[in-house]
Amino acid sequence: VERTFVMVKPDGVARNLIGVIMTRFERKGLKLTNAKMMHIDRELAGLHYVEHKEKAFFGELVDFITSGPVFAMIWEGQDAVKNARSLIGRTNPSEAAPGTIRADYALDVSSNIVHGSDSIESAQIEIRNFFGE
Ligand code: ATP
Repeated sequence: VERTFVMVKPDGVARNLIGVIMTRFERKGLKLTNAKMMHIDRELAGLHYVEHKEKAFFGELVDFITSGPVFAMIWEGQDAVKNARSLIGRTNPSEAAPGTIRADYALDVSSNIVHGSDSIESAQIEIRNFFGE
């Protein structure tokens, strides 16, 4: 069964959106198999966002993701990676379809509430990095 890594980012935790986000995944039919509240240190942030290392917004991205607690989760089910990305919506909330989490709860691309793995390979790496599984 396919698994994916999903994380409520510091803005989502600060705005008390953990519950509504989890509800959307549960209603979709995905199953929660692990979850924890944690703080991302700069080393894990660099690892998680390694593909953005050369981007102009990298520093801002690391500052943001380490700015407060995040809620890390593992969800499993049919096409878990693709289904989680559909629920989350496009990276930029202005372009996200109505009904997606980012469209409904976020305004700005740099504080877009939630992360979901973009491929099965990324999911495996992220689950290992965050949960050691
Ligand atoms: P995530 O990895 O957080 O799920 P994503 O896969 O939809 O997001 P990526 O292209 O991997 O999008 O970008 C990672 C994160 O970097 C985005 O979620 C966003 O917070 C931030 N980001 C992307 N583009 C910009 C930008 N132009 N300015 C500021 N932050 C950005």
